[in-house]
Amino acid sequence: MSVAETAPPPAVRGVDPDALLCPGCHETAVCAPPSGWPERAGARPEFSHRDGSVLCPDGRGRVPEPVEATS
Ligand SMILES: [Zn+2]
Repeated sequence: MSVAETAPPPAVRGVDPDALLCPGCHETAVCAPPSGWPERAGARPEFSHRDGSVLCPDGRGRVPEPVEATS
C-alpha cells in the first residue's frame, strides 16, 4: 500500500550557478561537461565554458574547478 515518492532534488551547495567563473580567463563557467571531451583524457570535468569548451587549464595542465564570482 506504499506510494512511491519522488526523491527531493539534490541540495544546492550554496553557490549561484550563474556566478561561476573560469579561473583562467574569467569567462562564465557552467555546470555541464565540455563537449567533445576525448575519452582517453580520462574523467570528464563537471564544468565548461558557456560555449562548451573545457575550462582553461592551470599551470600544471590540469582542468580547474570554477571559482565563484564575488562581485
Ligand atoms: Zn577559461
